[in-house]
Amino acid sequence: MAEKRRPRIVILGGGFAGAYVAKHLADRNLSFDAEVIVIDRNNYFVFYPLLVEAGTGALEPRHCTVPIREFSRKSELLMGEIKGLDTKANKVRLQLCGDDRDRELEYDHLVVALGSVTRIFPEDVCSGVQEHAFEVKHMSDAIALRDRAVELLELANACDDPEERKRLLHFIVVGGNVTGIEVVGELEVFVRGATSMYANIKPSDCQFTVIELAPKILSILPDNLIRWATKTMTGRGIELRTGESVKEVHADHVITSNDERISCSTVIWTAGIAPNPVLKEFTDLPLNSHAGVDCEPTYQVKGYDNVWALGDCAGVPGPSGKPMPPLAQIAIRQAKQLAHNIAAAHRGEALTPGDVSVLGILVPLGHHKGVMEFKGIKVEGFMAWAMWRAIYLSKMPGFGRKIRVLLDWIINFFFRRDYVQLGMNPAASREFTSSKK
Ligand SMILES: Cc1cc2nc3c(=O)[nH]c(=O)nc-3n(C[C@H](O)[C@H](O)[C@H](O)COP(=O)(O)OP(=O)(O)OC[C@H]3O[C@@H](n4cnc5c(N)ncnc54)[C@H](O)[C@@H]3O)c2cc1C
Repeated sequence: MAEKRRPRIVILGGGFAGAYVAKHLADRNLSFDAEVIVIDRNNYFVFYPLLVEAGTGALEPRHCTVPIREFSRKSELLMGEIKGLDTKANKVRLQLCGDDRDRELEYDHLVVALGSVTRIFPEDVCSGVQEHAFEVKHMSDAIALRDRAVELLELANACDDPEERKRLLHFIVVGGNVTGIEVVGELEVFVRGATSMYANIKPSDCQFTVIELAPKILSILPDNLIRWATKTMTGRGIELRTGESVKEVHADHVITSNDERISCSTVIWTAGIAPNPVLKEFTDLPLNSHAGVDCEPTYQVKGYDNVWALGDCAGVPGPSGKPMPPLAQIAIRQAKQLAHNIAAAHRGEALTPGDVSVLGILVPLGHHKGVMEFKGIKVEGFMAWAMWRAIYLSKMPGFGRKIRVLLDWIINFFFRRDYVQLGMNPAASREFTSSKK
């Protein structure tokens, strides 16, 4: 009698969502013997909560990544670009990295975990973003931002015109939610911290501005924490312009929604995310109004028994009926439930609806301060910052990675941040999407 083939589960995307699904599928308690294949264009995933630190010299960029092979040892990794999907034939089309031939891979179950990209507004709403702004989404963005700040410090130091020096050292962050505020807080520490090395630059030559459309920054947090963060940031000379947006980005200035021209050298775009645009090419999959994969509460893609989705690219209704938010803490816990549901579906058992909600929001503000709401507890100042570091260090997968991150932090505590350029082309490896597309 022919031996029964193990079911093959193909996971598109090895980020927080995909890599954790692969890991949970291999969990012994699941008693599920499957062949698991992860496809990702990288052989690592970015540990996003530490990406801003990597971009502002507090951490070595490589230390905020997790190698997929090491993380989910029992699954196979195919490093390549996902090109297409045929759900009728249960096949994925891909190109391995360094090879331009199309290949096909059959699956029994497919997990879509392709994450998100930076949300860029259409040109008629805000022009020039793709050409001139920096994003904070990939490891190369973190390196490019750090390189850019170092280059501008060198240029400003050699500049005789005080007005031009101020323009060179003016950084504008568009979007004042969690990522934008973390970026501006850490960048201020990085850039002003360097000024003592430069004879011609004073800390007051460096300017930092946040432009946020909502009436307040960090609108995800309770009012008392917002007030505390606002006072702390403005006390450090960071300008917070709320209730405003940007309608044009140029190489040396921006134009705000109030038609004001603000001179600057660098615009960092953190005004939201959008599901991976490659999903629109997979015409078999139903998309919701935000262009995310439309799912049942069980993580099954609507209309399919063997296609599943989770993480930033999926609209999975949570206990409240609203889609679960795009956060790593959500993706990680969704992954466990989804793995259990695949095993249950394979055995013909009932599926469990997802019931993951946000545990807390932690925002580091720089200078060893932060704000945090965790399971209803509100904390500000040094304690919030220390909790942020402790929680993310404990969440960083792998003992070796934890030690690397911890050593970086200890070194940083005693020494100046590292102002060495890594030589990345700032224009390289950007992946913007337009909400118009
Ligand atoms: C700067 C920043 C800070 C953040 N901080 C926090 C935080 O503190 N706490 C928190 O909970 N969340 C945080 N988040 C959000 C969190 O990172 C995301 O919610 C989480 O990464 C979602 O996981 P995912 O697997 O859906 O997407 P991702 O982790 O982005 O994974 C998607 C994967 O798909 C791969 N991929 C995409 N397209 C293709 C293709 N065509 N072919 C091959 N591979 C492809 C990518 O390489 C990637 O590895 C932060 C995000 C950012 C950008």
